[in-house]
Amino acid sequence: MHQDRCEECGEVTPGYDTVHYGSMDSGYRQLCTRCFNAVVAELHGLDDFENIRLEPIGLTDCAGEEHQFHFQTRLLGGIVSLEAFELREANPAGYTFQLIGKPEEDLFALLGRLIQRIRSALSVKHIEDGQHGLQIVDDTVRGESSGTKTKTVACRSWLLMVAKSHGKSSARC
Ligand SMILES: [Zn+2]
Repeated sequence: MHQDRCEECGEVTPGYDTVHYGSMDSGYRQLCTRCFNAVVAELHGLDDFENIRLEPIGLTDCAGEEHQFHFQTRLLGGIVSLEAFELREANPAGYTFQLIGKPEEDLFALLGRLIQRIRSALSVKHIEDGQHGLQIVDDTVRGESSGTKTKTVACRSWLLMVAKSHGKSSARC
């Protein structure tokens, strides 16, 4: 696993949780996400920003398989990006979800909405990549459209966006 040492707090951090931050004039530093957020919060006068580390949680999909989601909060000036992702061999892979919020918003409220979105997506049956290309796993599906990163699948009474589903799954509802 690629790891970096944060040049602010000195903590050894996985590569995906660091930011190369700076400018041509001041030079660049490798910062962990929390130190990066602290720098951005200070720059933008966002003293109340909740710069907290969110612990991973396990959520079960409709096939009974558990997915461990890790969270990353990035303060980007006027917006906050909250991302949830799975890890494979210590690198982000599988499902990725992202919500954009405001820095003054309650981070746990944002997290609650993100988890709700993940739960909805995990309750949906997925498209199977079979010998005839992408196909629906069984006939409970009523509609389908697919793009490069977003698939819409109707499953039972659900019609939900399965956003940025990188992994392939043939889960059954
Ligand atoms: Zn740090």
